[in-house]
Amino acid sequence: MSTQKHFPYVNNKMFAEKVDLSNIAHHVGTPFYCYSNTAIRQNFQAYEHAFSSQDTLICYAVKANGNQAVLSTLAKIGSGADVVSMGEILRARAAGIPAEKIVYSGVAKAEVEIEYALNEGIFQFNVESEPELELISQVAKRLDKVAAIAIRINPDVCANTHAKISTGKSENKFGVPISKARLAYKQAASLPNIKVQGVDVHIGSQLTELAPFQEAYQRIAQLIVELRSDGHDISVVDIGGGLGITYLDESIPSKQAYADVAQAQLSHLGCKIVIEPGRSLLGNAGVLVSSVVFVKTGEERQFLILDVGMNDLVRPSMYDAYHEILAVDNSSTELKTYDVVGPVCETGDTFAKARTVKESKSGDLIAIMSCGAYGAVMSSTYNTRMLAPEVMVKENEFAIIRQRPSYEAVINADNVPSWV
Ligand SMILES: *Cc1c(COP(=O)(O)O)cnc(C)c1O
Repeated sequence: MSTQKHFPYVNNKMFAEKVDLSNIAHHVGTPFYCYSNTAIRQNFQAYEHAFSSQDTLICYAVKANGNQAVLSTLAKIGSGADVVSMGEILRARAAGIPAEKIVYSGVAKAEVEIEYALNEGIFQFNVESEPELELISQVAKRLDKVAAIAIRINPDVCANTHAKISTGKSENKFGVPISKARLAYKQAASLPNIKVQGVDVHIGSQLTELAPFQEAYQRIAQLIVELRSDGHDISVVDIGGGLGITYLDESIPSKQAYADVAQAQLSHLGCKIVIEPGRSLLGNAGVLVSSVVFVKTGEERQFLILDVGMNDLVRPSMYDAYHEILAVDNSSTELKTYDVVGPVCETGDTFAKARTVKESKSGDLIAIMSCGAYGAVMSSTYNTRMLAPEVMVKENEFAIIRQRPSYEAVINADNVPSWV
């Protein structure tokens, strides 16, 4: 059973919308990423509907999947972008996302990046520290521009998620501690060419409960009241991203339930709400399709060795992430328990241990599910493996949205100095 409704089995063959995945594999080879255009749009529209009673800007977190076809899909239906680098601003702009719908997060914005963002005229800088505030002010003054800012507040709540994707505890590097917030806003208001307009919070990723959001938003609402009494004109509250998806059997609150919690805490303030979802728009809109290279019998276990590796999908080795692993052809009735591994020369190149999958043989197609977010964007060419191509499907059409590079292109990217 797939947890992703846009990747159904039809007569025991896994489809992406109305396209047979084995047909795509035949055209592009394996491994490849495959995204459902309809899933992306429906996820966006679910947020839009959930927040429809309120002035809300949905800024897709580009880092989850920055492919231009993905960004264009979202741009066409009105999405803004949450970016964390100049490269992501360039991507968002190239896909047609207007500058006035871009918010810029990140702890280490460089001077050239700030300059570029100011010249583009982005909606808001989400400032993560006092030194960053000073740098933005200096650059804005030099350019004779005004930088609209929110300060990212670290509310010191526990997001109950994996340590590597938790950001809202006081020990994390992100944002300004809530205890120092009023002082930071005072400093911001005193700096030239800075317009204080908002408050920003993002407590982590793959959250499966609403309580941490509720606690964070309650603290932020209280802070906004205090900041207003200090004389700051706060008209924007950016509540971050972080709503999780189902990878295994997690029951995730609906986007509506999430919106209800946010609005219950924040509506009375009359602010424009900005949300920055990434994973919850893309995660379950994509799969990673690979082929079985060998089935190897070890002393104690059977290995299912795939042609996809940790260089293509790093989440299992980096975050101990669980991904469902399914046979693309579901017709076999035999189940087997395998360690599912990749070809990379690292023990960490393991997708699952002791996982029960349909009995498979060399050449069979295997789908790794829920790979639309933090998949292709985190891939590398480690072991001189070519980046997996990306494919987008819409109903009965599919298109390659990023090609597999040639070996030649990858090797020729290196330069050998004459003195070697
Ligand atoms: C990563 C990130 C997001 C998106 O998080 P998801 O869990 O993918 O929704 C939003 N805002 C900021 C500041 C981020 O760093």
